Amino acid sequence: MKSKRKADVRILGGGLAGVEAAYHLALFGMKVDLYEMRPSKMTPAHKTHLLGELVCSNSFKGTDPSTAHGLLKKEMRELDSIVLKVAEETKVPAGKALAVDRVKFAERLTGIIYSHDNIKLIRNEAHGLSRDIPTIVATGPLSSDSIVKSLGQLTAKRGLFFYDAISPIIEGDSIDKEKAFLGSRWSENDTGYLNCPMDKKQYLSFVEELRKADRLNPHPFESKRFFEACMPIEVLAQRGIDTLRYGPMRPVGLIDPRSDETPYAVVQLRRENLKGNAYNMVGFQTRLTYPSQQKVFRMIPGLESARFLRYGSIHRNTFIDSPRLLRKNLSIKGTECIFVAGQLTGVEGYMESACMGILAAISAYLYIRGLPFAPPPPTTAMGALLHYITDPGVTPFQPMNINFGIMADPGLKGKKRKLALLEQEEKDFSAWVNGIKNKMTP
Ligand SMILES: Cc1cc2nc3c(=O)[nH]c(=O)nc-3n(C[C@H](O)[C@H](O)[C@H](O)COP(=O)(O)OP(=O)(O)OC[C@H]3O[C@@H](n4cnc5c(N)ncnc54)[C@H](O)[C@@H]3O)c2cc1C
Repeated sequence: MKSKRKADVRILGGGLAGVEAAYHLALFGMKVDLYEMRPSKMTPAHKTHLLGELVCSNSFKGTDPSTAHGLLKKEMRELDSIVLKVAEETKVPAGKALAVDRVKFAERLTGIIYSHDNIKLIRNEAHGLSRDIPTIVATGPLSSDSIVKSLGQLTAKRGLFFYDAISPIIEGDSIDKEKAFLGSRWSENDTGYLNCPMDKKQYLSFVEELRKADRLNPHPFESKRFFEACMPIEVLAQRGIDTLRYGPMRPVGLIDPRSDETPYAVVQLRRENLKGNAYNMVGFQTRLTYPSQQKVFRMIPGLESARFLRYGSIHRNTFIDSPRLLRKNLSIKGTECIFVAGQLTGVEGYMESACMGILAAISAYLYIRGLPFAPPPPTTAMGALLHYITDPGVTPFQPMNINFGIMADPGLKGKKRKLALLEQEEKDFSAWVNGIKNKMTP
């Protein structure tokens, strides 16, 4: 009976990191109490009661193991990541990226966690942090105020806050398919993307209107800490007339079948679900007011009659100053048994957050068993992320997603560097994983 037993570990937050952590600890035979405050208390971005709900894009990015994102997935697959497994089971076409039907994805994850004998799902907001039981804090970028307050007390109030912007979603049948054409940068036959082509005149007047459009006032502490990959589209437009054409609106690799030419600029729309009745505007995070979004985005060829299922908007992103606050095993300095996972640690991205859930689970398990934690080497994708967020030399600390730049440098350049990185990663990750798997027996 789940209700009668005493938990070995408490996990706060049933997002991507919390779900991974709960699943892995349960696999290792631990009894887990998983706290999730939704639906009784919602965050500003979540819409459902489901665990592992994706709040913005439905894409987990690329899978090619010769890229940094693919490498992270390869490592997580070797560690039996449940987020990755369910993502692969619920994927929708998206070229070389792994994108999912977000409802099916979250429903399936919720079912797995809910029905696991070793996991008790408690639908309550967690308020405090007790040192009486090993705890993993995975309450995410939109952590409730009460948990932020408790974290602040533990970390001498050195938590940091800033705001992110998310992109709009458009109803599929409101897109003019006579103007928008199918195909990704890698394949003309890919049905995962619709592309809205622009000629030079259309592009220039679009950028001009975007620059003039009304936007919501930034929050006082927002401006300095925008993560570069989440930069609002109107801020990019302000940087230079061609910034968008070399950024999210780049036409590279796309040929308009009607003209047989590469357009001057392109707005890409990525399919949100299998039915294809909803499309996400790729890279169009924004803090324009809703009327401005309607007005300006309907200038895009193919979107003249667009119906917006969700407008772009601004959300809080909370993370801690991990290089100064966390040990290599993700426990908070000054405590032994309070671990942090997910986006709160200062990693950025769905997979990166889930990856921290796996590492926190391994750490908590070894702590309970009285065994030492050996971090994955910085030559691996998981190790590089862990090293980045816990390296006291990283200052000021900015959230980071996986990329080859943070992996340990083999001292070579160009293609040779990448080949050397991949070879070293292969060796080091399998050695680390074998060592860990020997220790992780239920
Ligand atoms: C608005 C926004 C858009 C983003 N878009 C993307 C994107 O497009 N692509 C991408 O790769 N990454 C994106 N991210 C970044 C990040 O990858 C995701 O937020 C990711 O879901 C983080 O995983 P997590 O498990 O750390 O947190 P979450 O998935 O947010 O999970 C945290 C959970 O904790 C719960 N919770 C909060 N406080 C409490 C409490 N006190 N007690 C109990 N439960 C609590 C929440 O309800 C939530 O379910 C975005 C972030 C934000 C804020």
